[in-house]
Amino acid sequence: MKKIIIIITCLVFTLALFQLNPSPAMAGKKRLVTIASGWVTGCYYPLGGSISRILFKHPEYGLRATVESSGASVANANLIANKDADFAILQNDIAYYAYNGIKMFAPGSGKNKPAKNMRAICTLYPEYVQIQALKKSNIKTPADLRGKKVCVGPLGSGTEVNAKQILEIYGMTFKDLGKVERLTARESSDFLKDGRIDAAFYTVGVGAAVLVDTAMMTPCTIVHIDDEHAKKLIKKYPFYAQFPIKAGTYKGLDKDVKTVAILAMLVTRADIPEKVVYNFTKAIFENLKTIHKAHATLKQVTLDTAMDGMSIPLHPGAKKYFKEKGVKIPAGF
Ligand code: GLU
Repeated sequence: MKKIIIIITCLVFTLALFQLNPSPAMAGKKRLVTIASGWVTGCYYPLGGSISRILFKHPEYGLRATVESSGASVANANLIANKDADFAILQNDIAYYAYNGIKMFAPGSGKNKPAKNMRAICTLYPEYVQIQALKKSNIKTPADLRGKKVCVGPLGSGTEVNAKQILEIYGMTFKDLGKVERLTARESSDFLKDGRIDAAFYTVGVGAAVLVDTAMMTPCTIVHIDDEHAKKLIKKYPFYAQFPIKAGTYKGLDKDVKTVAILAMLVTRADIPEKVVYNFTKAIFENLKTIHKAHATLKQVTLDTAMDGMSIPLHPGAKKYFKEKGVKIPAGF
């Protein structure tokens, strides 16, 4: 009798272990992929984290992922070009420049190199150019940034590229600023709180922790980009679109503010097998609820908008998934 009880106990225990880890055999076969994300207090990093959690929980996709934080778009394009990341999140304008080897990615233009091997999976959500400024610095338009201490974005960010383009539309370069800082998102928030800078550029999903946190701690505003300048900017750099930020989005933001936005997108490398990219894409779109819970901005990630603003050729694995789902693939991608 005692023996039977022991055997039953062992059986129950073994079954319980299987419940915790439903298919250890499959888990062993999971391919490890890397996702280059962005700032810990931005939206790319929480998105990368939620994709990694989905893959961990669902052995059927045969993947597991590690997520790296980074300066973001430009740094991530380089990680793809150098085959140091399998997947990356970056801005659709930067993806275009990187894939086509133009502007800061033009051969011989600096430390970046073209990323001809970059392939798109989908676009994700709008990232707003948000110039957060101290109320006491009295910056009403980007023109008022002249002579001010400004963080133009983290090193390797797409933000810095946007900052440069916006200043250009207002007839300025970084040389017209009093001081140019390139700080991590967390540092630039601290610098604003301490009054060590007057303003900071962030191209990031609305409601990103970095902006929310700074506004909670110190009186801040978001700088308005008027229609005339926004139109000039869009004409020169067509990836932008005009977007308003609603009053109340951040503490102290008492009026709606107009700004511009580009789109975040997910990319991979041409040499990543079709099956891997197909499963990665499927894992995301079959588990959108998990993605949506990771950050309010991520609620805008949908199948319907996955091809909006596409800027580089799609990977065959992603194309296969979207075709199966009846998503219209834009011509030429
Ligand atoms: N779009 C940002 C950049 O490349 C990164 C935003 C984020 O990490 O959420 O500058």
